[in-house]
Amino acid sequence: MTDDADATTVPANPADTAVVVVGGGIAGLVAALECAKVGMNVTVLERDARVGGVIRREMLGGVEVDLAADGFSLRGGVVTAVLDEVGLGGQVVRPDHGGVWIAGGSAPAPLPDDTVLGIPANAWAEDVRRHIGWSGAWRAYLDRLRPPLTIGQEHSLGRLVRTRMGDRVRDRLVAPLSVGGYAVDPDDVLVDVAAPGLNAALTRTGSLAGAVAALRAERESGAGEDGDGLAGLPGGMSRLVDALVARLDDFGVEIGTEAAVRGIRSSGVAGAAPWRVETGDGEIDADAVVVAVDEPAARGLLAEAAPSFASLSADVAPTVSLECLTLVFDAPGGAADRPGPVVHAVPGTRRAATLLHQTGRWAPLREAAGPRGLVVRVTFGGPGAAPATADLDDASATAMALAEASALLSVPLDEVRLRGTRRDRYAQPPPATARGVAERAARARGALAPAPGLAIVGAWLSGTGLAQVVEDAVAEADRLRRRLLFGGAAG
Ligand SMILES: Cc1cc2nc3c(=O)[nH]c(=O)nc-3n(C[C@H](O)[C@H](O)[C@H](O)COP(=O)(O)OP(=O)(O)OC[C@H]3O[C@@H](n4cnc5c(N)ncnc54)[C@H](O)[C@@H]3O)c2cc1C
Repeated sequence: MTDDADATTVPANPADTAVVVVGGGIAGLVAALECAKVGMNVTVLERDARVGGVIRREMLGGVEVDLAADGFSLRGGVVTAVLDEVGLGGQVVRPDHGGVWIAGGSAPAPLPDDTVLGIPANAWAEDVRRHIGWSGAWRAYLDRLRPPLTIGQEHSLGRLVRTRMGDRVRDRLVAPLSVGGYAVDPDDVLVDVAAPGLNAALTRTGSLAGAVAALRAERESGAGEDGDGLAGLPGGMSRLVDALVARLDDFGVEIGTEAAVRGIRSSGVAGAAPWRVETGDGEIDADAVVVAVDEPAARGLLAEAAPSFASLSADVAPTVSLECLTLVFDAPGGAADRPGPVVHAVPGTRRAATLLHQTGRWAPLREAAGPRGLVVRVTFGGPGAAPATADLDDASATAMALAEASALLSVPLDEVRLRGTRRDRYAQPPPATARGVAERAARARGALAPAPGLAIVGAWLSGTGLAQVVEDAVAEADRLRRRLLFGGAAG
């Protein structure tokens, strides 16, 4: 059946259009809002006792703490547009310190100032040499001397940096950011997605360092993308979830929790709603179903309704296992006032991948934690490496996290009083900058196309990160509702 033919069988009146959204993470909630606000009859079904998915806040040691996403990228304005819609637009806060530090064999030190994705504009700068040493600087300088003929369109960030500037720049400046920040190896990062314009500037200026300098000059003059401007909400990212739920309630959306969906199948009844969504409590008929769950769950749920999609199982996005230990403690004098860097470890040099000093980053959290309160999150695991904590019991994992936090913050945390700890595990999909993400999403959606009224959203398609997930969910929901209301040609 074509989309156009299908358009004749679905109701064009939004109020008569029943949409079931499976999964109440940010992707599902945003897709639900997009459908509800044009008057569709929307139900959200969430497996857990709470919605929000990866966005989660818990009381730890007397402080409410974000356990995973604690901020969002301002890129494209997509998250701020949703915040405006749910009445939180005026409340966006910027971090006190956007600073990123890198810890290698030596003491942690700030990421050098003049860099793009960790690539330095000047390898001789003191803040660069601190990380790569004199020998690394000499090797990086060869980039300036390489003949222009060797410059090409290298798509892999890691390979580009290694070829032009050598292993030290790649391993000690670029890899900590991509592995610690996005759990992706730099060899798998696409230059043109991560730093649009860098390859062209390389050809123009004749060197990678020159390209970095040119891109930075463009950004400073406001002509280029400013990258990852970070923002948050006082009270944490769960306030976005709460506000979305309230807005969905205004639109009469039903949200069922502890409502795991078991399967989706065709109703097989001509003239009736085409889809039947099966939960533990019964079945719900739907004109459309938005599947907003992780990839393995999506393939299982759609096995019957869309066999061609489910059978693409060899195409599954590689996820990275992460363990996060969130620690809340009373710190010795001075520790609570430290600048709030994110500290990424040079891969292979430490057991932890990264440390996030949350009280250093967000003023509202610092106020809530009190003058001695310190909240940090230590993340273990990375591409191709199981978390070092994976086989440890909770007490040993906490001890390892404390030791790593102490080293990465350069603060002796053995003197602290631990107020609360929490351990969480995640299977993180790759970021949008990773090789293959866009193609895999296109193949998955292409395979679903013969089943009109079915849509898939979520981080495994858009790439991990709230800005990417939200942008993609808004776009997919828009495509779906156009199809439902105006017919296939509009999609
Ligand atoms: C440690 C960590 C820190 C992060 N920090 C940031 C950050 O600071 N900024 C940022 O932008 N991004 C961050 N991210 C990424 C971002 O949080 C995620 O990309 C995003 O929240 C994923 O949303 P989602 O809706 O795709 O998936 P999820 O949040 O996983 O939602 C999927 C939902 O589907 C439900 N579900 C699954 N199966 C079923 C079923 N059968 N029936 C019903 N429901 C089901 C699940 O319970 C879940 O609620 C972070 C991620 C991690 C792991």
